[in-house]
Amino acid sequence: MSTIVVIGAGVSGLTCALQLAKQGGNTITVVAKHMPGDYDPEYTSPFAGANVLPMALEYNRWEGETWPVLKTLAETVPEAGIHFQKSVLYRRAKDEAAAFAGPLSDGLFLRNPWFKDLMPDYVDLPASELPEGMSSASSFTSVCINTAIYLPWLVGQCRARGVVFKRAVLKHISDAEKLSHNGRKPDIIINATGLLSCRLGGVMDKKVIPARGQVVVVRNETGGNMVCTSGTDDGNDDELCYIMQRAAGGGTILGGTYMKCNWDGVPDPNVANRIMKRAVEACPSLTGGKGIEALDVIRHAVGLRPYREGGVRIEKEKIDGTWVVHNYGHGGWGYQGSWGCAFRVQELVDEIKSELKVGSKL
Ligand code: FAD
Repeated sequence: MSTIVVIGAGVSGLTCALQLAKQGGNTITVVAKHMPGDYDPEYTSPFAGANVLPMALEYNRWEGETWPVLKTLAETVPEAGIHFQKSVLYRRAKDEAAAFAGPLSDGLFLRNPWFKDLMPDYVDLPASELPEGMSSASSFTSVCINTAIYLPWLVGQCRARGVVFKRAVLKHISDAEKLSHNGRKPDIIINATGLLSCRLGGVMDKKVIPARGQVVVVRNETGGNMVCTSGTDDGNDDELCYIMQRAAGGGTILGGTYMKCNWDGVPDPNVANRIMKRAVEACPSLTGGKGIEALDVIRHAVGLRPYREGGVRIEKEKIDGTWVVHNYGHGGWGYQGSWGCAFRVQELVDEIKSELKVGSKL
């Protein structure tokens, strides 16, 4: 058996722990400052919508290999808290003219994107169905994950396979050497510390910054589609408009913002007003055509996305004589890339196990 300590109990750490537990031959301990059930802006995973809106500019395995897993969960595992929803992307004329230089300057809004072959039922909408100011739109079948159900489900799946969970706040990544529940020094440490990898001793990755996401969670239902527009007119450039209804009574998420370098965890009431106003305009069925006063607010919230300049870090590194596999910096796509990233982490773990001659793969 190899001894593995996973630091982090967000979607990245939990998915890796589950993948490595399924593989067998590993004694796994997950240690984290925050666990599912906690709400802290620096613990991003509970705040995500979360849906699948592919963002890579071209095919990448993170999103490409995750979709089939989430689709299967939505089809066959109701207790995971994932359901199918149709997603409609609206492109504004001005954003297309500016080649999408706004906060979501990625592949999501490109016409004829690579993911039209990945996501079921991808079609471009006819001009007659476009709201004013929109130059084009596309729709496809996606999923929406109720993170308040999915994260505990991941924990349960891990525990059923012998993974042990512990609370700990690490000052340095090498602190993990004393934290395996079997008392042994770990052969491998998995670093899934998200945003806080910028402060963890031994890592201190200054390329990692927050991308502040403010949302409003309401009891109102959309009556149908998830909606996302390529930009907004009435706020700052780092404000967005998206709406998604979570599975299994999880409420509807109205978003949002993508404010880089902003650590403020307190919801801004002016931004909240704009989010709600845009949502009822983009999706009148939310309030039966009434204004924002007909929204039934569950909570206002802020989560800080773990944005990393240059992209996600998934690689192995020896720190103080112990192998570490990093898996952090997923920005706004941590769920929709979670399984693809976990598969890569497993490959790196297998390489290390071969070198160390530990574990069942030998
Ligand atoms: P986290 O969830 O932040 O987990 C980090 C873990 O590491 C925590 O357990 C923490 O306690 C632990 N940790 C950190 N430092 C230490 C330490 N020193 N000692 C011990 N433990 C430590 N993604 C999608 O795919 N689809 C969406 O629709 C989507 N919507 C989003 C909407 C909003 C408003 C926000 C904020 C994010 C959204 N995201 C979405 C992005 C997604 O939430 C993140 O990419 C993802 O949650 C990152 O997960 P993580 O596990 O890497 O980090």
